[in-house]
Amino acid sequence: MRTSAAAGTAPDHEVAIVGAGFSGIGAAIALDRAEIDDWVMIEAGDGVGGAWHWNTYPGVAVDIPSFSYQFSFAKRSDWSRIYASGAELKRYAEDLVDSHGLRSRIRFDTKVVGAAYDEEGHLWRLDTDRGEVTARFVIGATGVFSQPKLPDIPGVDEFAGTTAHTARWDHDLELAGKRVGVIGTGASAVQLVPSIAPEVEKLTVFQRTPIWCLPKPDGPIDGARRWALENLPGAKLATRLASQLYVELTFPLPAHFNGVIPLGKQGERVGRRFLREEVDDPVVRDRLTPRYGLGCKRPGFSNEYLATFNRGNVELETTAIEAVTAAGVSTIGDRLHELDVLVLATGFKVFDRGNMPPYPIKGRSGLDLEEWWDENRFQAYEGVSVPGFPNLFAILGPYGYNGASYFQLIETQVRHICRCLRHARKERATAIEVTREANDRYFRQMLDRRTHQIFFQDTCADANSYYFDRHGDVPLRPSPSVETHWRSARFDLDDYRFERRLSPAPAGSHR
Ligand code: NAP
Repeated sequence: MRTSAAAGTAPDHEVAIVGAGFSGIGAAIALDRAEIDDWVMIEAGDGVGGAWHWNTYPGVAVDIPSFSYQFSFAKRSDWSRIYASGAELKRYAEDLVDSHGLRSRIRFDTKVVGAAYDEEGHLWRLDTDRGEVTARFVIGATGVFSQPKLPDIPGVDEFAGTTAHTARWDHDLELAGKRVGVIGTGASAVQLVPSIAPEVEKLTVFQRTPIWCLPKPDGPIDGARRWALENLPGAKLATRLASQLYVELTFPLPAHFNGVIPLGKQGERVGRRFLREEVDDPVVRDRLTPRYGLGCKRPGFSNEYLATFNRGNVELETTAIEAVTAAGVSTIGDRLHELDVLVLATGFKVFDRGNMPPYPIKGRSGLDLEEWWDENRFQAYEGVSVPGFPNLFAILGPYGYNGASYFQLIETQVRHICRCLRHARKERATAIEVTREANDRYFRQMLDRRTHQIFFQDTCADANSYYFDRHGDVPLRPSPSVETHWRSARFDLDDYRFERRLSPAPAGSHR
């Protein structure tokens, strides 16, 4: 990677967006609307949709209502169900890309492997496996659920049968009549387990920590429902508002305001009642009952998951796994579960090294973002920008996401970023950097709100939640959605320093 721009050399593009999931798509649409159309999107995969491109395991679907899991400016009334399938979400991504004319500016099969800020040129040099791309500004839109995590179980590579990870499903994998083991009981397993149970000969689910599983207000949207959504005045808006409220009540409010709004306890009562209604065997029911508070980790929503454990061909194994062997999974006490197929529903690297950030990022004076976060704990002003890293913005930075809909997060953060970029254009600035003081103030505000967050109550001690990072922090944003929305439109632009390069080199094609 070169270290400085030749004087007067223009970057290849004004903006580089890394990732073609919904975050990247939302950023691209907003940039076009702001008439910042000299952007390039760089995507490691061969298609758009991010999580919905990569996650195609049986049963994959959204786990919040589709009325909230879509852009406010591209609301659909033709979702086939209240909770759309993964394939439908992938199609939604494709449609957005085509209807907004984005596709020709996406570079597929191109992986960013490093990024360095060129202080002299006021631009970023992105090192990709297909050569260097330079851009004045970079928007990181890689999400957090992009790198599948393998379990730290001895012998996991030694299984002689077929091993599959939910996040990289092989559609040639035959499960009918097979002895299948699933390790993990997170949101992916909650969807996968009931989908494959009817076809396999025997299904063993290896559970370490039970998940709170809540009923899902799902159902097809057809006939009269669809007619009403499409034709009744205000129906789409009313449905969206009801859906947003439901999402807010099922996670952000109970988790972040646990000490103020006692919704979590209500939710736990619903969860326990659901367990009683769904699971016949009291021993199995007891093993499926979480011992931590609702909200410590992401709950599951399914009308089929719990009842699957009533099936004769399904076993819930809660004894800890000792090792994976060539023949199957052995649990403590030397019980061997012989298997033909082992499914790892073991989630993703989240706040792990190598994922936050997903490639080495060097800011001013070679400052390394991962090392800076190691030393200073995860933090980013409004979840978007970090001092020492000018012209770099994140959609899903620390303390950005409050746990509601990702689409709301994307729209909020993109509004913030576009305000910065528009102001830079107005001022003819070529470098934008958040001040240390603004960043510190925001970080302090986030930490001050901990007292009410469920994560820091005793009840979460045994939840084994991936929300906790290696510093023991939970870098989720303790704010109701309405506040995140308001802040993105009102944050003080003086929280950033705007600087003009002495002989500004115009980006590729300022139109
Ligand atoms: P996850 O929530 O991280 O669950 C991983 C599971 O694997 C946990 O049950 C974990 O147990 C278990 N596990 C990991 N290592 C293990 C080991 N060494 N031994 C035994 N068990 C082990 O991952 P996920 O289910 O893929 O979900 C990740 C996130 O993706 C979700 O929380 C959700 O935000 C998102 N997601 C969304 C949708 C959607 O519909 N929108 C669908 C799927 C996923 P412990 O709990 O004990 O750690």
